[in-house]
Amino acid sequence: MDNLRLAIVGYGKIARDQHHPAIQGDARFRLTAVASPNASVPDVANFESLEALLDQGPEIDAVSLCTPAGVRTAQARLAMAHGKHVMLEKPPAATLAEIETLREDAERHGVTLFASWHSRHAHGVAGAKRWLSERQIRRVDIEWKEDVRVWHPGQAWIWQPGGMGVFDPGINALSIATAILPTPFHLVDAQLQVPGNCQTPIAASLDFVDGENVPIHAEFDFRQQGTPPTWEIHVDTDAGRLTLEAGGRRLLIDGELLEEGPDAEYAGLYERFAALIAEGRSDVDISPFRHVADSLMLGYRHTVEDFVE
Ligand code: NAP
Repeated sequence: MDNLRLAIVGYGKIARDQHHPAIQGDARFRLTAVASPNASVPDVANFESLEALLDQGPEIDAVSLCTPAGVRTAQARLAMAHGKHVMLEKPPAATLAEIETLREDAERHGVTLFASWHSRHAHGVAGAKRWLSERQIRRVDIEWKEDVRVWHPGQAWIWQPGGMGVFDPGINALSIATAILPTPFHLVDAQLQVPGNCQTPIAASLDFVDGENVPIHAEFDFRQQGTPPTWEIHVDTDAGRLTLEAGGRRLLIDGELLEEGPDAEYAGLYERFAALIAEGRSDVDISPFRHVADSLMLGYRHTVEDFVE
């Protein structure tokens, strides 16, 4: 396969920190253009918008949409209507129903649509899934806590409707849980802490059960300051305790390190995107997103002190 001419749309934190380096490290792709209101990325064609890029060229085969979810569906539809393959950053859209429209568009236009979940490509996730597939699960505890000012500096969109607040990182934990746990689970209680001046939660406490009534508890919090983020999942089983640490990069059994790898999540995403395009397939799994929608639907909202950047 010739290398794919790719454009990044939305050149913000995640495009800069992860997508651009991952694309540079993957010979299957060539970054040809960037479309973002204030971008001036060296050695590629820069445009203020996707519309301008599609209108004025250069020719591209695929786009990575790294914009906030609120504007992404319209961009995905436009790109697919122009015959481009599309990778969506997570979460895949602002609403569940949008995704059905996107799925249909992908089929109609004969292009690949990839709803990416970068955390599923963390080093320990595949091993955790394998280990758990042969175990009886008794309890799951998820802790996903970070400092919003460090990880989302100045991002007003995260506090607006559709921005999802603490579910923006929390959905990463749910993307891992839905991948490694052998059976589906559903929400039974959600307590949401919402700053008085915001529309979305700064913290969430969630209780799920699976079909065997195994409890799954999750704590998401944007207010962790002064320490590194806590991105951990613990699963108690009949054969010991599995822990995923560092967002899934480290896998431990009963406190003993079993696997540890480099941060290569985005390299994994581009490998998968290239494979899907080569096979002429799409990959759109919305299970993590459904849990977020359920949490926002069922959640009891507590008003807490205003958020100050
Ligand atoms: P961000 O820093 O706010 O970046 C978003 C970028 O999109 C900005 O450069 C913005 O440009 C641009 N943009 C906004 N509207 C646009 C439009 N209509 N057309 C083209 N560009 C537009 O946000 P981010 O942290 O990169 O997050 C983006 C997505 O990546 C979110 O879905 C998030 O969940 C996901 N993600 C983020 C992280 C993280 O650690 N931050 C990690 C993994 C995934 P201007 O700023 O110039 O307006």
